[in-house]
Amino acid sequence: MALGKPRREGIDNPAQKSHCTLIRNVFRLVGREVEGSTLIGSDVAIEGVSKSFGDFRALNNVSLTIQKGEFFSLLGPSGCGKTTLLRIIAGFESPDDGAVTFDGNDVLGLPPNRRQANTVFQNYALFPHLSVFENVAFPLRLRKLPRSQADSQVKEYLRLVQLEAHAHKKPNQLSGGQKQRVAIARALINKPRVLLLDEPLSALDAKLRQHMLIELDQIHDKIGITFIYVTHDQQEALSVSDHIAVMDQGDVLQVGTPHEIYESPATNFVARFIGETNLYDGKVLGVNKLPHVETEYMVELEIAELGRVKVTTVDEVKPGQKVNFTVRPEKIMITTDKPASKREDINHFQGTVDEPIYSGFQTKFYVKVNDTAMIRVIKQHANYSDEGPDIVWKDSVYLSWSANDGYILGIKE
Ligand code: ATP
Repeated sequence: MALGKPRREGIDNPAQKSHCTLIRNVFRLVGREVEGSTLIGSDVAIEGVSKSFGDFRALNNVSLTIQKGEFFSLLGPSGCGKTTLLRIIAGFESPDDGAVTFDGNDVLGLPPNRRQANTVFQNYALFPHLSVFENVAFPLRLRKLPRSQADSQVKEYLRLVQLEAHAHKKPNQLSGGQKQRVAIARALINKPRVLLLDEPLSALDAKLRQHMLIELDQIHDKIGITFIYVTHDQQEALSVSDHIAVMDQGDVLQVGTPHEIYESPATNFVARFIGETNLYDGKVLGVNKLPHVETEYMVELEIAELGRVKVTTVDEVKPGQKVNFTVRPEKIMITTDKPASKREDINHFQGTVDEPIYSGFQTKFYVKVNDTAMIRVIKQHANYSDEGPDIVWKDSVYLSWSANDGYILGIKE
């Protein structure tokens, strides 16, 4: 198998897990400390949750299990039902059917303030007339915590979000990112077991969003409670999540690690929604068991626009079956010289560059093959001497990729 290509049943290779994730897992077991006050996350289970608004079904029998301390993302296009699901977990909305439990305890009968979950909203929802300090202190004032105790906790959480120097300011004197950090500190100060984040970065510009995303991840690493993060931005979800649920039209289409979702998409929709891909209809011509690999097959496909393509798979497919075939643009090598490799598992095609799109760190090429198919290829720019000549518009090029880098999905009878 190609390095990093997961089997469909999931990744169980510790080398593929990031150092951060491993550390996170250790702390998940023991709870985390913010200056002496232990924070512990909850397991969250959603079982058979459905919700309609009038005739419109916003959620169809959704089931998910979110582990204690995870950074879990609900990812999908606008209107797919992710906010509705988050609001049901928070207690702002009731489902028509199904159950929501925290650590095995049913929370549907509880109002939001008794669920040990807090929400960070898109629009920050800060009190404009209160200082940063008093905004963060607000939940503690409501609980009538003695002032000295409350104040020292506020300082602790302002330190966590790096806003000590801005404690005296009013919200309108803060940047978007700073406002969002106040909202996060205020949501955390009651020590919830679950933090719900509803597109918290969407009001920020692209650069600040990147920066805040890293901060959010670091805050999650420090406090270790369960984060459930709603976003329509696949890059955001891929870069910070332990697991992602991809949703469309009220359904959960796939739950997996970022690596599984990207490399082994369960459906055409997931393949297209998560990053860019080349996707074709194909028909199985032949299947051979790979020597030395119990569960993997080398499959030859007939693809109308391309011709014959070799691809490995762990799924059992039969000659004559119709399938979908996908290969990511960055897995394809593009060269002006014919590749020297004679390996049998490499797919070779020849084409003409129809459109090169330069974007600094990479170039995307639309390559016309056989006058019918367009293959997208992404080439990263590295400054090696063997990079070869620049590839430009109308160039005749060779495309090649390993059978291990393609993927079969959507197996039909
Ligand atoms: P976005 O990313 O645009 O916020 P979303 O995935 O979070 O989208 P939801 O807000 O969950 O989507 O909405 C799912 C669907 O349910 C949408 O079609 C929306 O119009 C509908 N919907 C949500 N709340 C209500 C409501 N209170 N009354 C009627 N329809 C609603």
